[in-house]
Amino acid sequence: MMDLKRIYWTRVGLRLAAAATMMWLAVSFAVGLMPKGSAGTNTSTVSEVFRGMVDGAVAAVMLPGLFAIVLTIIGGVINARDVRRRDPARRFTRQQRREGMARAGGQCEMESGFGRCCPRPAEQGDHFYPWSKGGSTSLQNFVAACARCNRAKGAGIPSPRQQERLERRRLGYGAPEAALSVGERQPLP
Ligand SMILES: [Zn+2]
Repeated sequence: MMDLKRIYWTRVGLRLAAAATMMWLAVSFAVGLMPKGSAGTNTSTVSEVFRGMVDGAVAAVMLPGLFAIVLTIIGGVINARDVRRRDPARRFTRQQRREGMARAGGQCEMESGFGRCCPRPAEQGDHFYPWSKGGSTSLQNFVAACARCNRAKGAGIPSPRQQERLERRRLGYGAPEAALSVGERQPLP
């Protein structure tokens, strides 16, 4: 079974770490540019002051820069693994579409804000866990969606709470037990 909690929180954590590192980098750079120590001495030439600023800035961004590089490498590895996981079949079959739509009773299963179910009729089948990130083209990963929700969802990874709510809603409209767990990801080949 797909461990959406782990996948989701790992990626949220990486995004936060990347944002924090960028801030750290910017602040370190600005601080590094500031002239140090002997303020007021007029013995140094303009070029010496300039060189001091550059040296200071370079030294200051070393550590956050290293962090940024490590995070970029981790991001690249995750992305490459997502691509390797991709299901060769991207489109749902006619049969999957029919069954998925019937399971949802023809209603959009997505959320239109504040965890509330979208009231519009379903028009398309969508991958709950995005195809581009390795989501399976299976009935378990199928959600019925209206065009607007499908567009709004894009390739974002749904949160574990969204998954829970959808599973609970499906219980409510009497889906068979086989359809209970929502979301499926392809194994690494
Ligand atoms: Zn909708």
